[in-house]
Amino acid sequence: MIVKNDKNCSWINDLAPRTNIKSIKSNEDCDYLVIGAGYTGLSAAKKLRELHPNKKIIIADAQLAGEGASSRNSGYLVDTTLNDGFTSNKELDNYKKKTDIYKLGIEAVKRFIKEYQVDCDWNECGKYFASSKSEDKKTLENFSITLSKLGFEHNLLSNKELKERLGTDFYNIALHTKGGILLHPGKLVRAMIDTLPENINLYENSSLLNWEKNKDAVICKFKNGSIKTRKIIFATNGFMKSLGVKPNYNFPITLTASMTRSLSNEEFISLGEPKEWGVLPVRPMGATIRMTKDRRILIRNTAEVYNPHIMNQSELNKRSFIQKIGIKKRFPQLPDDIIQFSWSGIVSRTRNSSQIFEKIDDNVFVAGCYNGSGIGVGTLFGEQIAIKASNENTKEIETIEARNKPTWLPPDPILSLGVRTRLIYERFRAKSEI
Ligand SMILES: Cc1cc2nc3c(=O)[nH]c(=O)nc-3n(C[C@H](O)[C@H](O)[C@H](O)COP(=O)(O)OP(=O)(O)OC[C@H]3O[C@@H](n4cnc5c(N)ncnc54)[C@H](O)[C@@H]3O)c2cc1C
Repeated sequence: MIVKNDKNCSWINDLAPRTNIKSIKSNEDCDYLVIGAGYTGLSAAKKLRELHPNKKIIIADAQLAGEGASSRNSGYLVDTTLNDGFTSNKELDNYKKKTDIYKLGIEAVKRFIKEYQVDCDWNECGKYFASSKSEDKKTLENFSITLSKLGFEHNLLSNKELKERLGTDFYNIALHTKGGILLHPGKLVRAMIDTLPENINLYENSSLLNWEKNKDAVICKFKNGSIKTRKIIFATNGFMKSLGVKPNYNFPITLTASMTRSLSNEEFISLGEPKEWGVLPVRPMGATIRMTKDRRILIRNTAEVYNPHIMNQSELNKRSFIQKIGIKKRFPQLPDDIIQFSWSGIVSRTRNSSQIFEKIDDNVFVAGCYNGSGIGVGTLFGEQIAIKASNENTKEIETIEARNKPTWLPPDPILSLGVRTRLIYERFRAKSEI
């Protein structure tokens, strides 16, 4: 399968192009091979180097490192995700397990940025779960009860307060959580690439075509060479299924996002000069919308089953139009042609929103499937799967392994049909919020 992306991602276009790109051009042996160079793979490779200073480690990506979902996301490093409130202790306990993992994920990213003094526009401003529909108040009140039980600082806000903070009177009700960070995802993953130890071989534009396990090695075929490795870690997230990794437990979803140019002084003043903020929808298919610190507006309001993975320009334009309307609804005073770039990205989902972290065969490990919340969890899972692949254990691994495991999914075409139907339903429910 070809893994290739558009060149339209604002976060990537903010950065200087990289040089010194190497690809696989011969046959090689190594001790550890990591497939996929996003947050998960880069974090895994770095940890492997710390654990095994003298082993040969290779990391390979089908495109340029970091230019998959890890650069293409909305930049919310989350501490909590929305739920409708829980009635049973068991459900509350499961939710706590989830947030324990988010907490460890935030700590993993924090450690990294502290160690290398990374500037990724880190802002501990929390996040809003917001809705234009007053009837969503009940959902937020229930969620508030859950957050209170678990000790997460938060507060409920009304239309007036939201208008002051966000510069739009579109939203009628919101819950603000104090925890949660906004950042520049492209800068974060670029820092992970730039600080990768020199004695790790990073190969880019090198797509794994197929792989096969023999007794004590895994043979991986690429277009211009092959790699025989003692152990392999799959960190390909939305592409797991296409490589035959846990195919009945995950499926890819394509998201599209758009970002405006920086607002002019007059435009920014017309919004009331709000501080940086990030809003997540209360209804699952509603818009994620964010004001960046440099006064750009990011919006993501589509999620779909889309094959093949490459979205051509005319398809992107259609999504961009939906995003233009989303911006216009919230900020009618802004001009129509304000979107600068629109791009797509692939994420991986499981049926019950639980992540994948496991040894799937002797010497074969996989981490991924963050259901749209992979900045922190991906960074955490990468380092921890490297530790697991080194036959060691940590408290973090115990926390990860205490989570609910992903549940089985039916094969295609039943799966695609089911997912499409669900997305249409959710989209209908959220139509005012798009
Ligand atoms: C529009 C959008 C918004 C999002 N918003 C957020 C958010 O606000 N907060 C959040 O936490 N998460 C968000 N996410 C999800 C987040 O981006 C992902 O969970 C995270 O990037 C996963 O990191 P990863 O390293 O596991 O995967 P990726 O970054 O997808 O990396 C996987 C890599 O594997 C490579 N690969 C695939 N197949 C092969 C192959 N055959 N051979 C070699 N390499 C291969 C790909 O090229 C890719 O670089 C969003 C995602 C998108 C697309």
